[in-house]
Amino acid sequence: MTRLLILIALICSTSVWALPQESRVPGGIALLRLPTLPEGARLTLKGNPVWTLPSEKGEQIAIIGIPLDTPAGELALQIESSTGNQQIDVTVDAKDYPEQRITLPTQKHVTPSEENLARYAREAREQLAIYQSFNTTGSNWPTFIIPVRGPYSSPFGLRRFFNNEPRAPHAGLDIAAPAGLAVQAPADGVVAQTGDYFFNGRTVMIDHGNGLISMLCHLSKISVQKDQQIKRGDVIGKVGKTGRATGPHLHWTVSLNNARVDPILLLPAAP
Ligand SMILES: [Zn+2]
Repeated sequence: MTRLLILIALICSTSVWALPQESRVPGGIALLRLPTLPEGARLTLKGNPVWTLPSEKGEQIAIIGIPLDTPAGELALQIESSTGNQQIDVTVDAKDYPEQRITLPTQKHVTPSEENLARYAREAREQLAIYQSFNTTGSNWPTFIIPVRGPYSSPFGLRRFFNNEPRAPHAGLDIAAPAGLAVQAPADGVVAQTGDYFFNGRTVMIDHGNGLISMLCHLSKISVQKDQQIKRGDVIGKVGKTGRATGPHLHWTVSLNNARVDPILLLPAAP
């Protein structure tokens, strides 16, 4: 009997129960059930490989990150295979993210110097290369935890203005926490990069596999190294306010098929 219960628990933990929450909006995630998929089929969205998982019913489930700049309407998923190519349209609903106005004490991070802009461009390229990577690992969607406990100080998707100047939308979740508090890996993975970036400050990027990447920013201390294997809950650094930050907090970005998505969708749904 105990063995049977263990077996049931194993089946449950490796099946669709662990999928992220679905939200077909810009910055959301679409779960697309595909009953028949040709052998060796390759799914892409805007040229980025899309993670597909087998379901308990023998179908495939494509887990699609929807880019934040996607207009409401149809989003084209490409399926390439030896028997030909096809396109599936996914309907994306509109979402009006609220505005946020932030006052920074200096203009350094609002209107960066040419030198800092060049630095930022280099750093953005480095991060983009990681977001575009697709390392096939494991066959299950990983279980996520919140990397640090604290109130959500800025939700995902805010349309941002710094010192009244429009800037890129908030592509992550901010969690307010005291400086020095341990930051945990939100899920298993490999440290894809660490760095001290102009906007993001001290940062750790974690590759959870199959195009799913986390980035944890503004750390005061980094305690992992590039290429290190880590488990969910491992301490990767400490909360800080390095980079463009008005106070100590953790910024957590999640990227799926090179689309920044709302990290809330990966956490267990509120009861
Ligand atoms: Zn943030």
